[in-house]
Amino acid sequence: MIIRFLGTHNAESKNTRLVSFLIDDVLAVDAGSLVSELTFPEQKKIKAILLSHGHYDHIRAIPAFAFNNSDRTTKVIATSKTLEILSSHLIDDVVYPKFTSEASFLRKATLQLVSVEPLVRQEIEGYDILAVPMRHNLDGVGFEITSRDRKTLFYTGDTGPGLSSIWGNISPQLIITDVTWPNNLANAAKDAGHLCPEMLKEELIEFRRVNNYLPRVAVIHVSPQHEPEIEREVREVAKSLGTSIDIAHEGEELIL
Ligand SMILES: [Zn+2]
Ligand SMILES: [Zn+2]
Repeated sequence: MIIRFLGTHNAESKNTRLVSFLIDDVLAVDAGSLVSELTFPEQKKIKAILLSHGHYDHIRAIPAFAFNNSDRTTKVIATSKTLEILSSHLIDDVVYPKFTSEASFLRKATLQLVSVEPLVRQEIEGYDILAVPMRHNLDGVGFEITSRDRKTLFYTGDTGPGLSSIWGNISPQLIITDVTWPNNLANAAKDAGHLCPEMLKEELIEFRRVNNYLPRVAVIHVSPQHEPEIEREVREVAKSLGTSIDIAHEGEELIL
């Protein structure tokens, strides 16, 4: 399984992109920067897009992707709540066309919206997908994604602390997790449904208690303004847990 990070931040600028990553070139996860970081031929390879929740920074490239790839149908996989937000706020026939039905300017429906039930496994384009409810508003979910060769990652989407009941549902080799702010903004992180490094440490200790191992960890959704501090604090967490935690950056690849 090859994971390619397209956007790893919570704020967009010339050097930072909103959250999105690709699995094996064919499965996209969140759509913060899905079009700006890919060539047209690379976009054409994508067969399905998973969306963790309906916040703008995770769904915003969907209309642009549909506009660019109107010669075929791409699946958009999310909970019914997320699909409803997408349909009523972005591809709403006002800001952008619906893209889900034929129209004079579309040869066919460009997007097929596929809803997933949390905690019900589903096969999507050869991958086993499990949506797991997380601690974030808009009923955000994370995804456990398993390839045919049994490589498994878990992506938290946006989440705050309190994940101990979640860890028993999954057994990934890699966790891609939200760490948005440094430890001195822990209260803000808690209120907004995000993690800081110290909270990640507590969650990983809980993961190890439940599952008897620690997976590799990659951190995304990082606030660019606080990145050096977050990096320093994440390094301390990795050291104290004796595990590998990487801060992912745009353009990096990770092989499982
Ligand atoms: Zn969010
Ligand atoms: Zn977000």
